Amino acid sequence: MADSAHTNIVIAGGGTAGWMAAAAFARFLPRGVAITLVESDAIGAVGVGEATIPQIRLFNRNLGIDEGDLLRATNGTIKLGIEFVDWSGKGSRYIHAFGTIGRALGLVPFHHYWLRHAQAGGNTSLWDYSVAAQAAAADRFAPEPGRPDLPSGLAWAYQFDAIRYAAFLRDYAEKRGVRRVEGRIGDVMLDGSGAIASLRLEDGRNIAGDFFLDCTGFRALLIGGALGVGYDDWREWLPCDRALAVQCASVTPLTPYTRATAREAGWQWRIPLQHRTGNGLVWCSAYQDDGVAADTLLANLDDDALGDPKPLRFTTGMRCATWRSNCVALGLSAGFLEPLESTSIHLIQSGIARLLQLFPADTPNPAEIAEYNRQTQREWESVRDFLILHYHANARPEPFWAEYRRRALPDALAQRIALFRANGRLFREGDELFTEVGWLQVLLGQGIMPDGCHPIAQALPIADLDQFLGAARRHVASLVERMPGHADYLRRHAPATPSGEMS
Ligand SMILES: Cc1cc2nc3c(=O)[nH]c(=O)nc-3n(C[C@H](O)[C@H](O)[C@H](O)COP(=O)(O)OP(=O)(O)OC[C@H]3O[C@@H](n4cnc5c(N)ncnc54)[C@H](O)[C@@H]3O)c2cc1C
Repeated sequence: MADSAHTNIVIAGGGTAGWMAAAAFARFLPRGVAITLVESDAIGAVGVGEATIPQIRLFNRNLGIDEGDLLRATNGTIKLGIEFVDWSGKGSRYIHAFGTIGRALGLVPFHHYWLRHAQAGGNTSLWDYSVAAQAAAADRFAPEPGRPDLPSGLAWAYQFDAIRYAAFLRDYAEKRGVRRVEGRIGDVMLDGSGAIASLRLEDGRNIAGDFFLDCTGFRALLIGGALGVGYDDWREWLPCDRALAVQCASVTPLTPYTRATAREAGWQWRIPLQHRTGNGLVWCSAYQDDGVAADTLLANLDDDALGDPKPLRFTTGMRCATWRSNCVALGLSAGFLEPLESTSIHLIQSGIARLLQLFPADTPNPAEIAEYNRQTQREWESVRDFLILHYHANARPEPFWAEYRRRALPDALAQRIALFRANGRLFREGDELFTEVGWLQVLLGQGIMPDGCHPIAQALPIADLDQFLGAARRHVASLVERMPGHADYLRRHAPATPSGEMS
């Protein structure tokens, strides 16, 4: 950064987005850069956002955060995937497990051999070859379960208390020089060029800066309010617009995965933490009223609710530009995708990483802004399509589900499904978030079975295939057998701290 000594960054908002950005900037930007974060305790943060995906481990590792410290401070648990229940009718279930499944043979991905076997009458489950899926089913976890010469392919994420995660990062950022200003932003002041000059607080203080991050949540005070950037509405495909969130006591066993159960006009999440379980219902208000939704949620908890459900309203979609002038929007101010695949915190993380790559020397360059916006839009659209797949391919009988099964798909998703349906081919484009294995599990889990498979897999004699698959299953089973229970693992390595103390 040229002229970095003069750079004065102001982060508006201190939820997960604001404090993730503050922590990363404090860690990676040169020392001379001043970082100020403005937040209002009276407004508070949204307080949901408890399930993550494995990439968050990279974010924390880059900040030098120890996994045990993080889990202890946030009452966190290990997450090996998301179990989808009742999406293909009552009683159906599958898991979108993290990590790899099986191992490729030559050029051909593993799943083609499994498909060939299944198409020849074999009755093993794809998930018999996933360490994460089998460990999740047995409520077990260990980071290095096997022999170093035989890779496990295991990947994991966390389930944690979102408020404590933000507090943990606040502590980290303040120790590295981030200045926190408590106050309510009343006005966003622009200069003659239309760039943001300062935030005017309601008590009259003025917080000036060169570069601003809008982390004000659904309010989007800077990007939407002051800069007037419009919103691309995706409810045509992802119609849910309401959520209720409530906690209940944790129960045993402590499951190392999140659960998403399809309901009449939406779906319900269950996220087990060490000290309690987070629950919520996401639904479409055109198909279900608030009272029925609340009854549905409360009737399907593991234990009594710890308080009243918290209502949230949203419009699925994203800002037409997440970087405009000298302002970048991160988190809920940038857009909203329902938490079906726990992607929002990741989208904050990748926004921060992209911004650090393209961080302006002084006045933001139009080509760099355009590149940031292009990459961000591509990433969000690909996550959107992954979510739409769950609404398109399912076997729920209710009118809500029937309607959204019929909707025309975005072209890229339609092509992806057609390609898979023919011969099980899957390709990951560029730096897309979800891997081929992620798409594979959700496509199969939601009921789309390919008609054929790769001809090289077809050519393998069935006896050889039996041997190859048998060895792969035994390998997975032996790794999982060596793992301790998930609750035992946490008790030994990362027991929760009653007040979320940080070390
Ligand atoms: C129902 C639901 C479930 C979710 N589940 C998940 C999940 O499982 N996994 C996941 O990854 N994500 C999830 N998310 C998304 C996740 O919660 C958010 O992405 C994340 O919390 C980031 O929020 P934020 O920081 O952008 O906004 P917020 O948490 O709303 O923070 C906004 C900040 O701006 C401040 N602010 C606002 N206005 C002003 C003002 N005028 N003056 C001063 N300060 C102001 C507030 O005080 C606050 O500090 C979920 C979201 C919802 C709605």
